[in-house]
Amino acid sequence: MRPRLKSWCVVATLCLLCVPPALADKIVLKNGRKIIASNVTEDANKVYYETSAGQLSIPKSIVDHIEKGLTPVMGSPAAEAANLPIAAPPAEPATADAAEIDSAAVHDGAVDRAYIARMENEAHGGNAKANAQTALAHHAAAQFELAHGDLEHALEDERTATNFAPEQPVLLINLAYLYLRRSEFKQAIDYLDRAKRFSPDNPDIYKLEGWAYYGLNRLDQAVVDWKKALALRPDADTQAALDKALRDKTEEESYKENESAHFQLKYNGAAAPALAREVLRTLEGHYESTSSELNYSPPEPIGVILYTQQGFADITQAPGWVGALNDGRIRVPVQGLTSVDAELSRVLKHELTHSFIQQKTRGHAPTWIQEGVAQWMEGKRSDVNAAVLVQIYDQGQAASLGNLEGSWMGLSGDTARYAYAWALANIECVVESDGMGDVDRILDRLGAGASTEDALKEVLHDDYSDLMRSCADYLKKTYGK
Ligand SMILES: [Zn+2]
Repeated sequence: MRPRLKSWCVVATLCLLCVPPALADKIVLKNGRKIIASNVTEDANKVYYETSAGQLSIPKSIVDHIEKGLTPVMGSPAAEAANLPIAAPPAEPATADAAEIDSAAVHDGAVDRAYIARMENEAHGGNAKANAQTALAHHAAAQFELAHGDLEHALEDERTATNFAPEQPVLLINLAYLYLRRSEFKQAIDYLDRAKRFSPDNPDIYKLEGWAYYGLNRLDQAVVDWKKALALRPDADTQAALDKALRDKTEEESYKENESAHFQLKYNGAAAPALAREVLRTLEGHYESTSSELNYSPPEPIGVILYTQQGFADITQAPGWVGALNDGRIRVPVQGLTSVDAELSRVLKHELTHSFIQQKTRGHAPTWIQEGVAQWMEGKRSDVNAAVLVQIYDQGQAASLGNLEGSWMGLSGDTARYAYAWALANIECVVESDGMGDVDRILDRLGAGASTEDALKEVLHDDYSDLMRSCADYLKKTYGK
C-alpha cells in the first residue's frame, strides 16, 4: 500500500538511492569476534539481532557483552565496494630515475604533455630504457590526475603506461586500482592476474583482488584473497575489509539464491521460489529494453533482494514513504505476492533504471535525474500533476533542480512527492523535445565527471532556470486545458 497524500499528486513508486548511516549495536563474543547489528534483544538462552538478511540469533553462552548504539552501519556490499577504505597501492616502481621523470612529467601544477610526447617519440625507436621511462612518465601523470579526482584521464595514462611496460607489476596493480575505483571489477581482476605472473607473492595484488570479488558479491573468494594478503603482510585496511566480508557472509547465509544472465537474486524463505524465478524473467526483459533506451549495458551483474514488508522496513530503516530502494542492490518488498503483477513489474523497471544510471554515470547522477528517468522508464507521465506543477512554477515557488541534486532522504512525504513529480516533468520535457538521446548524452557527461548543470549546458544549451522554464511551458502546452 502506498499512501495518497494530496489529491493532486500520487507518486506511486518511491525509492531512494542510499540509506543514511544508522546507529547500531555491537555484540562482542567470548572469542573476541564482534557482530555489528541493529535491534539487539535477548531472552534466557539467545541473543537476537537484525541484519540486512533479517533476524538472526546466537546462543547467549558464546556472547561476552553487548554494546548498544555505538557503531554506524552503512549500506550494502555493492554500494560500499567502490568506497572500501583501502588505500592506493604503492605509487612508484623502484627505479633510479623515477623521481627525475616524475618532476619532468608533472610540474607547476600540470602534466607536461610536450615532455611525455618527446619520451614517446624516443620509445617508438624500440629502446627498452626509453620504453620504461615513457611508462614512468605516463604513470606520474596518472598519479597526478588521480590526486585531482580525474579518474578518466588517470585511467587513460595508466593504461598507456602498462602498454609501454607490460611486465611492470606496480603499474598493473595501479591500473587495477583505478578500475576498482570505477567499480569495474572484472577489468581489475584481469590486470591483477597479469601482475601475479610477474610478482606472485605481492600482498597488494591479493588485497585488491579481494576488493574486486567483494564488489562482485563473491564474498567467499574475497575472504580467500584477503586471508592470503594478510598471511603475506599484516595490514589494517585488509583486516578491516576481511572482518566486514565475514560479517556480510554470516548475514546472508540464511538467504536462498538464484541467478540469471545479468542478475543475482537473494530472497528469504518467505518468498516463493516460483516468484523469484518470475522476478528474474521480468528483470531480464526490462534489462533488454532499458539497455536499448539508455544505450548502455552495465558490465557487472546486478544484485536484487526480495524482502517481506516488515523485513524491508526494519533493514532499510528508510522513511515510511519509501516503497522500494536501490542502494547498489535492488531491494524490493514482495510480501503477499505470488506472481509478478503490473505494479511489481513497474517497480522492478524503476529500480533497474537506477542501477543502469548508477553504473553509466559511475555514481555521479544527481537524485532528480535518477528519479526523473526512473519514473519515465517505468511509464509514468506528468498528466495528473501538470496543473499544480505549473501553478507552483508560476507563483515562483518551484524547487530549484540544483537543490534536488543531493539525497532526498530527509524530505517529508509531501515534499518528496512534489520532488518526484517535478523531476519527472523536467525529464519528460527533455525526452519529448529531443528524444532519449539527450538523456544518454547528459548521463555520459556526468560519467565523465561534469557537474549536472554543465552537462545540461553542453547537451541542451540550457542552464537550470532555462530547463525549468521550458518544462513549465511544455506542461502548459501538453496538458493545459
Ligand atoms: Zn527511484
